[in-house]
Amino acid sequence: MPDILVVGSLNADLVVQVPRFPQPGETISGSDLQIIPGGKGANQAVAAARQGSSVSMLGRVGNDSFGPELIHNLKQNNVETSHVQIDPGSATGTAIIAVDATGQNNIVLSPGGNGQVRSTDVANVSFSDYKLLLLQLEIPLEAVTSAAQRARESGLRVLLNPAPARSLPEELISLSDFILPNESELSLLTNQPVHDIPSAEKAAKALLAGGAQNVIVTLGANGALIVNKDIKKHIPSFDVQVVDTTAAGDAFIGGFASALLSNKSLEEAVRYGCACGALATTKFGAQPSLPTREEVDRFIA
Ligand code: ADP
Repeated sequence: MPDILVVGSLNADLVVQVPRFPQPGETISGSDLQIIPGGKGANQAVAAARQGSSVSMLGRVGNDSFGPELIHNLKQNNVETSHVQIDPGSATGTAIIAVDATGQNNIVLSPGGNGQVRSTDVANVSFSDYKLLLLQLEIPLEAVTSAAQRARESGLRVLLNPAPARSLPEELISLSDFILPNESELSLLTNQPVHDIPSAEKAAKALLAGGAQNVIVTLGANGALIVNKDIKKHIPSFDVQVVDTTAAGDAFIGGFASALLSNKSLEEAVRYGCACGALATTKFGAQPSLPTREEVDRFIA
């Protein structure tokens, strides 16, 4: 049985490069369309599998040509897919992404099947078969919370990446062993500004006061900050030539989860996550940029 269960989103990212973004009512010609597998859930599943972890994914795709392609892509990346359903009444989740000449992007998200994941989907899974649950917020909160409750009952560790940013009920925060926000997500969660290490620490402490156990704030090029009741420790990232920061957070989380499972200490696991995140910024795209175990080991050495 796989060690990691990811309950989350699968998307088809439809990407076109444009010279500039169109005005309302305007048509602009762009590059050939690229169709790239994405969704935070699937990205993190692939990120952990590339680090050598055994991973299973739970989610829903739609009844269209993208659905089977996304399932096939997960299988090719050694992610087990028996809990990915094809939802007969939905389209597959898609992100329609325009990237302009300066590298800025403009995204229209259609949740499709991701919006139909229910707590009943989670009820059919034997949680005690797994060691660790990975959650994000691109599926309904009801399903996320239900998965966290089942994991708690079955003794799994719960990692919550509260992305995309939103406020959360305290119940979900206290069901999570690790909460891993970036700066803007932490700011929204705690309703306070987060723009540097001291403000991140202050906000992380507010989350602890709200029932969180371990908060790991990712700080982009500045690495990550660990805050729990015993320690507060800043782990710097690695110097890299940045090409595209898409999926750095997903790479970090997949790497961190894998490292925890191989019994690394919390600090070592965060450093390993930083290496994965840094490497992901050196390549274009989401899943294509997620590093393998060999790449990370070579990079750290
Ligand atoms: P997200 O992609 O969710 O916004 P971050 O930007 O915080 O997350 O990136 C996640 C991790 O990836 C960081 O903690 C860091 O370790 C690494 N990382 C991101 N950007 C850079 C960068 N420019 N240089 C080095 N490491 C980076």
